[in-house]
Formats: sequence, structure tokens, C-alpha cells
Amino acid sequence: MMMYLPPQVNQALEMLTAAGYEAYLVGGAVRDYVRDNRRGKDWDITTNAMPEEVEQVFSGFRLIETGLKHGTVTVVIDREPLEITTYRIDGSYSDHRRPDSVRFTRNLKEDLARRDFTMNALAYNPNTGVVDLVGGRADIAANLVRCVGEPDRRFQEDALRILRALRFAAVFDMTADVETADAIHRNKRLLEKIAVERIQVELTKLLCGVGAARILREFADVIAVVVPEIIPMFGFAQRNPHHDRDVWEHTIAVTASIPAQPVLRWAAFLHDIGKPHCFSLDDQGVGHFYGHGARSTDIAETVLRRLRFDNATRERVVLLIKHHDTPLPREEKGIKRLMNRLGVDASWQLLQMHRADTAGQHPDCAVRYAELDGVGQIMQQIVDAAACFAVKDLAINGSDLLALGFQGREIGQALQDALNAVIDGAVPNERQALIAFVQR
Ligand code: ATP
Ligand code: MG
Repeated sequence: MMMYLPPQVNQALEMLTAAGYEAYLVGGAVRDYVRDNRRGKDWDITTNAMPEEVEQVFSGFRLIETGLKHGTVTVVIDREPLEITTYRIDGSYSDHRRPDSVRFTRNLKEDLARRDFTMNALAYNPNTGVVDLVGGRADIAANLVRCVGEPDRRFQEDALRILRALRFAAVFDMTADVETADAIHRNKRLLEKIAVERIQVELTKLLCGVGAARILREFADVIAVVVPEIIPMFGFAQRNPHHDRDVWEHTIAVTASIPAQPVLRWAAFLHDIGKPHCFSLDDQGVGHFYGHGARSTDIAETVLRRLRFDNATRERVVLLIKHHDTPLPREEKGIKRLMNRLGVDASWQLLQMHRADTAGQHPDCAVRYAELDGVGQIMQQIVDAAACFAVKDLAINGSDLLALGFQGREIGQALQDALNAVIDGAVPNERQALIAFVQR
């Protein structure tokens, strides 16, 4: 079978070949093609031509030299930037992340040997088909993430590969091969050397993967190196009739049950992280976690800041955690108030949180789904009716109030009072009625 290649990629491969060089597609595109014939996103080309030779072959094109040190020339063909990298061997790694130097080679096998996992070390061009020098195809067929070469050494060279392995396993629902898995556990501490930004990216993809629950369970000790705040949840018994799982197993179930969007997965992952710090037993011997919403909120804030999340993501995740523990209002008035306070998007997300939380609780709690469906229907009606639930939707505005003689903070307060009155159904959302109301 032939792999689909965009025209620019075909053209680049042909031009290099016509000039007497070897050229292959490598990396994610080939892996995704072999896995399930899926089209790749980034088309990385590797060649035995030296960087100057690549520049010669593409001398008529726009070239970007930013990656030249590592042997990468970016060629712009029909407005599409294409990365062409010379076969290379990585030198020694003293920082557990980046090679101290790279050396170019004319030998494909040496280039493939420096790559992280066998499934990522496949090469392809239309003349040779798939070139597999490290058993990548067999591992893909067996659903195995396996290091190229000796796992301990590969993780010691670059510890980010530890999280990449878990990310690929979660996203593609694969298993880490035994030796690779053992080396991941053994070398987990090296993750402390890795930049938090990279950890943030990999962990987010991992949490959004279909196999996230399995990976969180099997590699909890590894995740705990980068988010040690999860450790108290491990095995923490809840001693409460609503729960048939410990806090960590509950967290895993909730995370896997919520839609696979970064904000929702992170909110689920951290929503009960404060629970072990808030435990108390009542006279009946039943466990309670009073105040855990606030405690989880604080811890989540710390974790997300440390991992350098952008403000919007952090604030939304924290908002959802803060409110996850308060029962949702059931009738229209209360729901409108909630939507007014949190915004429409966040309200929908909060509903998802409650659903997922229910999925992680004792089966007897499943009656809540019907209640949550009811809340969702009312939310939908409110949105559909474009009913008034924000100050900006009121039939009066700040200038009206100024004209009526209101000043400074009185204006905002009067608008808020008017909004509450409209939501409560005490006043219709009409100009004259609202003016009369605020003047009272
Ligand atoms: P994705 O679908 O996430 O882009 P990818 O496999 O293309 O997956 P990239 O980060 O784009 O991942 O890297 C491209 C290729 O470079 C990989 O397939 C792999 O061969 C190699 N590679 C990337 N990162 C590493 C690493 N840390 N160590 C060794 N090889 C790596
Ligand atoms: Mg890629």
C-alpha cells in the first residue's frame, strides 16, 4: 500500500533523490500510517545530504536556517514549511535532556538508532516503502511502546522520554514493554531535571489519552515525581457510603469519565487532591471531608502555577474545582444565577464535573444522573431562550443610570440589583419597568 504524501513532501523527496541523495519521511507521520493508515500532521524528512547540500538542492526556494546547528534546514515549498534534517548521531548527554553535540552521518541506521521508541524509528519513501530496522512494525502490531536500544541508557540520556513513553501509551492505548516499563520506574527521579513546560505538555496529552486510567494506575509513582501532591490520595480510604473506592481510584475514575479536553481532565485529576488533608470521622464512624473543595482549590493553584499553565487554563480549572463540591441548583432561578456568576461555558463544564464525579462514586449514586440531566435541560432552555442572565443583557445600561443621577459604584450595584430582580421574575426585562425599579 502507498502512503499518502502531500505534494510538497513528494516534491522534496524527489528532488533529493534526483540529486543522488537518500531521503525518507520519519517520525510521527510514518508511525501513524503504519498504526492505522492515518494521515500525519507533521512531515519530517531525513536525508544523508549534509545541510549545505540540502541548501544547494533547494537553492531556488526560501530557506529558514534556524535549526541548522542540529542539521535542520526548513524549506518553504508552495508556502508550506518542511523540515529536512541530516541523518545524525547524538553526542553525550550531560543534562539528561539535550545532547552536548550532534554529529552528522551518511548512515540511516545510525539516525534511526538515536530515536526514542521503535514505533517512532520507522522510515518511508515511495521507492523503498516502510524501512524498519528496529522492529517498530512488530511492536505497533503488539501495541507495545519499546525503547530503541537499552531503556536505562535511553532514559538517562533524555528523561523527557519517560513521560513521552507514558503519553504515547495513554494516547494510543498501548502498553509499555516490560523492560521499558521497569526502566521507567527505575529512572523516574530523573524527571526532576526536566523543564516544567515540557512536563506540562506531556502530562496534559497523557491525561487526555484513552488509556489515561490504566497509565495513571500503573505509573502513579512516576506521575508523583512531577506532581507529588497526589501521593496522599494513594490508598486513602473514604469510609463513606457514597464511595466504594479510595481517593486515588476515585480520582482515576473521574478523570477517565470526563470528556478528553485539557481543562476538564486537569480539573478532574486535581478535584479531590485536598481530601486527605480534610478527613474526619463522625460518631457513627462515617468519613467526611469538610472543606476539601477549598483545600483542593489551593493545591491545584500551586500545581498549575508550578507547571506554568497559562492564566486562562489555570483560572478555569481552579474555578471548576472550587465549585465541584457544591450541589448544583435544580430550578431555573438558581441555575440562571449560577450561569450568571460562572458564565455559560464554565456552567456546562461544571455539569460535566458533576457527571464524572458521579461516575467515580458508589453505583447507588447513579440516581444523580437523572437529576443532572434535568439541570442540563434547564441550562439548555435558558441558552435557547437567550433569557436574560447577564448585566449586559439588561434593557438598561450604565448611561441610563448616569442620566438618572446614579454615581460611581452605585451604578454597578443598581445594575446587579436589577439583574437579580429580572432573574427572580420580580421585574420584566423592559426599559420602563427597570427604570422604575432602580428608582425605588
Ligand atoms: P507527535 O504525533 O506527538 O508529533 P512525533 O513522534 O512526531 O509525535 P515529535 O516530538 O514531533 O513526535 O518528534 C518527531 C520524531 O523525533 C519522533 O517520532 C522521534 O523519532 C524523534 N524524537 C522526538 N523526541 C525525541 C526524544 N526526546 N528522543 C529521541 N527521539 C525523539
Ligand atoms: Mg511530530
